[in-house]
Amino acid sequence: MVDVVIAGAGPVGLFLAGELALGGCSVLVLERDPAPASPLKALPLGLRGLNAGSVEAFYRRGMLDRLLTASGARAGAQEQARPRDVSHFAGMRLDAADIDPAALAYRLPGPVSDGIMTSLDAVGTVLAERADALGVRIVRGAAVEAVTQDGDTVLVRAGGRDHRARWLVGCDGGRSTVRRLAGFDFAGTEPLLTGYAAHVTFDDPTQLALGFTLTPTGMYLRTPFEGHLGMMDFDGGAFDRSQPLTREHLQSVLRRVSGTDATIGEVRLATSFTDRAMQATTYRRGRVLLAGDAAHIHSPLGGQGLNLGIGDAVNLGWKLAATITGTAPENLLDTYTAERHPVGAAILDWSRSQVATMHPGPHAPALRRLVHDLLATRDGTTHVFRHTAGLSHRYDLGDDQPLVGTTAPDFRFRDGTRLGELLRDGQGVVLDFTAGQRLRDAATAWQGLRHAAGPVDDDLGFGALLVRPDGVVAWAGDHDCGAGDFGRAARRWFGEPAT
Ligand SMILES: Cc1cc2nc3c(=O)[nH]c(=O)nc-3n(C[C@H](O)[C@H](O)[C@H](O)COP(=O)(O)OP(=O)(O)OC[C@H]3O[C@@H](n4cnc5c(N)ncnc54)[C@H](O)[C@@H]3O)c2cc1C
Repeated sequence: MVDVVIAGAGPVGLFLAGELALGGCSVLVLERDPAPASPLKALPLGLRGLNAGSVEAFYRRGMLDRLLTASGARAGAQEQARPRDVSHFAGMRLDAADIDPAALAYRLPGPVSDGIMTSLDAVGTVLAERADALGVRIVRGAAVEAVTQDGDTVLVRAGGRDHRARWLVGCDGGRSTVRRLAGFDFAGTEPLLTGYAAHVTFDDPTQLALGFTLTPTGMYLRTPFEGHLGMMDFDGGAFDRSQPLTREHLQSVLRRVSGTDATIGEVRLATSFTDRAMQATTYRRGRVLLAGDAAHIHSPLGGQGLNLGIGDAVNLGWKLAATITGTAPENLLDTYTAERHPVGAAILDWSRSQVATMHPGPHAPALRRLVHDLLATRDGTTHVFRHTAGLSHRYDLGDDQPLVGTTAPDFRFRDGTRLGELLRDGQGVVLDFTAGQRLRDAATAWQGLRHAAGPVDDDLGFGALLVRPDGVVAWAGDHDCGAGDFGRAARRWFGEPAT
């Protein structure tokens, strides 16, 4: 028997597998596809944007340099100046010059300043390497086909074999079998559009503008990768996606949504999607949990799905590991749905609001003018930037201090050690800038907590912080803070002290 079976070796399943292994659990990943490589994961169709929140997650587990190398990005590229166009809302670009630095007051300079462009291939390779190094077993060609919960275990049938585990996590994508078999409700809104991502040749590429182009009939996107085309066709989701994507079909959609007579020569690869926006009403049923696309689906507009899924994995990993190893306080695992469901719901709404803003017809242009005006303001641009960068959400941990519930600033101690490095082994961290004996005695009472004391380059006015293994600030104290406040917070997240 293993502690956890994960269904699906996609990016979310693999990230979670590493987190659980780091937390001391035995993990078996069952993956339907026989081989990790697929043309859909390679560039250009496998192109994915990771936002600052996700890049931070790789950095905090010591995987950022490897990811940059695997992505073909130069090491240190993160420290370059932010590009002028940082993101978009419904194809309307944000200008980095309009972002208000005061709204990022708790961000400290460090290796993670921005998001990166990568590929599903690169992300999968780096995460599989880590999982492997941590002793995770990955079985490919084993699709989960039956799930039975009985008492304290789950029986999982995959590829004709039975596997018993204490917990099962469905990371098996948008059409999740685990979600269906375990009886999760999946609720939301039906599609307004069919989208396409394709790698093609054009007779004359100059007929199509580079970047996002919104037209009276839809949207198309031409990226700098030669022949990489995205399209959104507002057909009410009517296209039957089980049929093959022919050149003739893509051609007719392209002409309709672009309003040009652009001609596609050859279709090298093509896939379709919709803006169906659905979310599991809870992420846990008994001993079965969901993460990533298995828990929520929406349009790829603004590139949020993978970022959302990585956030799920980082949030769930240490909580489930602590539950399994017996160090978790009561109800710690319940905070997974409580914290992540609202984040997912907000992303679904973000996706819906972009689709509504782009919809052909008489009403959306009025909405677009309004959004355009808002994006012309500093507050508007900053608001949208914080959201797309994955920096806007704050978990409600019942504390008014604005830093509590957000991702921790990357404090740098005078000896050069950064918080991001202290989080590498997946333990919680007590940052003690006062270096007082009282807090030291209290902090070392918890075995799973690392105590780091001393002056930092910039303490942002804090005396001490408690940072969870997922990098979220659980408590923040001033320079006169007492050990009592710290102890209450530590008990809430890390259970009773060992000494
Ligand atoms: C065109 C496009 C562009 C996108 N761009 C971005 C972007 O820029 N940024 C971003 O954040 N997101 C983006 N996304 C979304 C992102 O790709 C997904 O949200 C992400 O891949 C989800 O990861 P996952 O691990 O949850 O699921 P998946 O990647 O779907 O992985 C699920 C895994 O489970 C396996 N599986 C399925 N069924 C079973 C079974 N029964 N048993 C065992 N294994 C099974 C599958 O083979 C697969 O390996 C984009 C999506 C599309 C379509």
